[in-house]
Amino acid sequence: MSSDVETLLRAPTAYALARKAIAAMELHKVWPTPVNFEIWIHYVGNKDGPLAAEIDQLLGAGEAFTDTVGEQLAAKYLPKAKLNGEILDAGDALAQELDSVSRAIESARETSEAYGQQLATASASLETEDATAIKAMVETLTTATQRVQSENKTLETQLADTTAEVTRLREHLELVRRDAMTDGLTHLANRKAFDEALERACADAEAEGEALTLAVLDIDHFKSFNDTWGHQTGDQVIRYVASVIGRAGRSPRLAARYGGEEFALIFPGEAAETAMAVLEDIREEVSSRVLKRRSTNEDLGAITISSGLAERKAGEAASSLVERADAALYASKRGGRNRTTAAETAAAQAA
Ligand code: GH3
Ligand code: MG
Ligand code: MG
Repeated sequence: MSSDVETLLRAPTAYALARKAIAAMELHKVWPTPVNFEIWIHYVGNKDGPLAAEIDQLLGAGEAFTDTVGEQLAAKYLPKAKLNGEILDAGDALAQELDSVSRAIESARETSEAYGQQLATASASLETEDATAIKAMVETLTTATQRVQSENKTLETQLADTTAEVTRLREHLELVRRDAMTDGLTHLANRKAFDEALERACADAEAEGEALTLAVLDIDHFKSFNDTWGHQTGDQVIRYVASVIGRAGRSPRLAARYGGEEFALIFPGEAAETAMAVLEDIREEVSSRVLKRRSTNEDLGAITISSGLAERKAGEAASSLVERADAALYASKRGGRNRTTAAETAAAQAA
């Protein structure tokens, strides 16, 4: 899609397109960040495309185009995220390459040092009058070896510099990778990290014959909260709820921001009952706290959350587990919200 846009931008209509994008952004009160601008260029450049369709649907539903929405759309539709992954893989390969080079040079240095020691020993044992010629020869060899060693020292220093650079690069790559897996607003795992973790957890549970429970959580009546208090305050509430969920979701559990104001918790090795107790604690903690608006100290009223959980059945795929947890969440919503519902267990279904 990026290449389409490039073509469009190089064409004579480029400025017209840019003006259209800005006008559309102004109309929908979209903050002109680079990411948002790129998205809206796509929007006006391809009104029938899937990105435009999703934006239209979003705006049609009365949702605001927040920076978070922009970032999520960018991750989904702009090919950069994929490219990022490829760059990371390439970076890793490079780091491995340099590692093996560094090991090779290190072993060469050791070999040469050992060689020098052997020669020195030989030279000492040849300390006799009649062996002057041999001794001179060995000394020449020793000098040569010392030169090689000193060259190696230089090489070693260079290598140390390179290794330090590789380490720095690797740490940077690790940061970028973590960034790509982290939700910017809440610092919980993002949707991509969640999808990967759930697939892995399902495979592990299947292989080990262990329990696995998934919970999905959604803030109640959040649209009207936003309408009353504004998106900024809404974002603060999302952060607050995320902090409570995050505390309960420490490793080996995983807490993720699944979507706008929806979260997920993966409980590897844990059955529905344990997860239920954790979710009830989260629910009670969130609903019992009196939230105040930071800027004005106004009372924001109580926030409640609904959740649904499902324990994985033998052989069940991640997608089916998500569907059942979602269905349980909807049951909580239908049942009056501020509650937790468990999908029926395999045992209950068999009974
Ligand atoms: P329900 O109890 O049925 O969940 O009602 P709801 O209003 O919360 O409905 P729903 O979960 O469908 O609505 C999600 C709303 O959350 C829509 C949008 O206004 C808000 N939202 C989604 N993402 C964000 C975000 O990143 N920041 C803020 N402030 N609001 C968001
Ligand atoms: Mg909601
Ligand atoms: Mg929701």
